[in-house]
Amino acid sequence: MKDLFEAENQAIFENELVADSNEENVSRQVRGACYSFVSPKKTAKPELLHYSKALLNDLEIEIHDLELFTQVVSGNSSFKANRPYAMCYGGHQFGNWAGQLGDGRAINIGDINTSSGNWKMQLKGAGPTPYSRGSDGLAVLRSSIREYLCSEAMHHLGISTTRALSLVKTGDQVMRDIMYKGNPALETGAIVCRMSTSFIRFGNFEFLSAQKNTDLLKQLSDYTIRHHYPEVQDGPNKYVNFFNSVCERTSEMIVNWQRVGFVHGVMNTDNMSILGQTIDYGPYGWLEDYNPGWTPNTTDAQHKRYRFGNQANIALWNLAQLANAIYPLVNKAEPLEEALEDFKNLYRASYHQMMCSKLGISESQSIQKSFVQDLERLLFKSEIDMTLFFRKISEIEYLKFEQLWEIVLETTYSNAEDLKKQEETWKDWFSEFQSIIIREGLDQEKRISQMKAVNPKYVLRNYMAQLAIDAANKEDYSVLEELYTLLLKPYDDQNEMNKWFVKRPDWAKNKVGSSMLSCSS
Ligand code: AMP
Ligand code: MG
Repeated sequence: MKDLFEAENQAIFENELVADSNEENVSRQVRGACYSFVSPKKTAKPELLHYSKALLNDLEIEIHDLELFTQVVSGNSSFKANRPYAMCYGGHQFGNWAGQLGDGRAINIGDINTSSGNWKMQLKGAGPTPYSRGSDGLAVLRSSIREYLCSEAMHHLGISTTRALSLVKTGDQVMRDIMYKGNPALETGAIVCRMSTSFIRFGNFEFLSAQKNTDLLKQLSDYTIRHHYPEVQDGPNKYVNFFNSVCERTSEMIVNWQRVGFVHGVMNTDNMSILGQTIDYGPYGWLEDYNPGWTPNTTDAQHKRYRFGNQANIALWNLAQLANAIYPLVNKAEPLEEALEDFKNLYRASYHQMMCSKLGISESQSIQKSFVQDLERLLFKSEIDMTLFFRKISEIEYLKFEQLWEIVLETTYSNAEDLKKQEETWKDWFSEFQSIIIREGLDQEKRISQMKAVNPKYVLRNYMAQLAIDAANKEDYSVLEELYTLLLKPYDDQNEMNKWFVKRPDWAKNKVGSSMLSCSS
């Protein structure tokens, strides 16, 4: 294993793409560049709260000098020979073109070559950049804990995501108005060091396209293909093939979100990774009672654009914006429209297959879509906890309806009276389910292990993250550590951890941070 500070670095992004010629750190409109050089702000008294040994292991990297590491991931010391920079992008926010956005509070501090490619390190909350639009460029402890825990949890769930290397408290105070209700207060400042092979978003392409800078748009696309889509060959269909691959990766990511009940909360095009990774953990949440209309983001409470059941539609909408952005490289609408059509079909088929796999059914082609939809309707009407339900049904024998009914009773947030009204419908659905299982005749043990591999036992429920935050605010990091460890193996039984395999407690139902989150972070 190599030491982090001895690993080779290449500065590929910086060297191959155009830098902003202005190096002043003032908010401004940037033209003709993909990034701006900017240094992180010094922090008062950085304290390393956690770092991901799992990520270091994956990268085959070690850290020997934790003191130096803390200085680097808090922005106080520079990393290797890299010059830190913030990336330039635009984006559609809540359906409207927002113009230039950019890394307003994220600074790339360097990169390392690892056995799994060239990884970039990015500090979130490291101070203002030319893209801060007058804001402070900082992040607070609560949102940093949420990003740190959730990005690592997503990875261990097998879902494509940016990773989190470290979480530090800066020793500085940050002013925030959590629910935007005119009650600003000082909060603890923090920084997460994120890692990915690329932090390029749909918005990077949109921004260059909006500026009609086709040369740079082509450079950025070629760069992305060269380093991240090696399967895309040079030739007349290069950019269409690239777009198709982005559509495929995005579809896979959304299917996985739906599989585990993850709601991103702010699927603006500037929060869509060109690699199909989950990126920018803000007011995200995990579905508890199965409700396709649910969003954790109070900023989106009115239209619920980014609700659970709408994530695939929004991905399609976002991909259409990306298609518009790269249109100048393709100059034909049909192949891009076809790719969007293919995305719809791919998503539909993959979603159906995924839902069948959650039910232990392998022959998804022979299953009617309505069979899955009937279950979704029942889960919604009976207010069933999604994670508990699917995990518990992974272990039953399917011989008696009573077994299923018991699970329904155990996992509902509804009352017995309302539930009783749906018992007959559940019975009908169950008899169809039972006959499919019998028809497929899969060995019981095999079915159970297959189902457990797609139905996690533990996810980062909103209240769990909040408990870690509440403890951390009292300088107790034991819950953070416990959840980090728990979520390394979300599909394992870990029976000693059963206290986390329960319904959302009543106190968490309408609590800020547990079910109500805003973009303030
Ligand atoms: P987000 O909703 O976190 O994806 O952020 C949207 C845009 O606002 C991005 O350009 C961010 O960099 C920027 N932004 C968010 N918070 C801050 C902040 N505290 N200071 C400066 N820019 C920010
Ligand atoms: Mg963002």
